[in-house]
Amino acid sequence: MVYRRKQESELIEIAISRIDRLFSLADEAALEHNFERANRYVELARKIAMKYQYPLPSKYKRRICKHCYNYTLPGVNGRVRTRKGYVSVYCSSCGKHSRFPFFKEIKARRKKLDSKPII
Ligand SMILES: [Zn+2]
Repeated sequence: MVYRRKQESELIEIAISRIDRLFSLADEAALEHNFERANRYVELARKIAMKYQYPLPSKYKRRICKHCYNYTLPGVNGRVRTRKGYVSVYCSSCGKHSRFPFFKEIKARRKKLDSKPII
């Protein structure tokens, strides 16, 4: 039997679908307050992303602590605040802040406002 080696793009598609699935499972586990399981799903998703050298999408990056790689659920084991130019996510398990800048969004909004005619 001859096996056809899969194309790299096919492999990345599979990896993305697995990462999506793992994060949805992590969401479910975290909502049931089973953070050990959620952290394990996050660990597996990160390992898949590293193996295929595919960066985790920003929507998933915000759910993980950058310092201890634990799953953070805002309101339960995390806190989300907006500061000047960035969103600060506090992780209660390690006590550190992860910061996500939103300068691009501010610039885009400014451009949009500038382009509107003044009446
Ligand atoms: Zn942490």
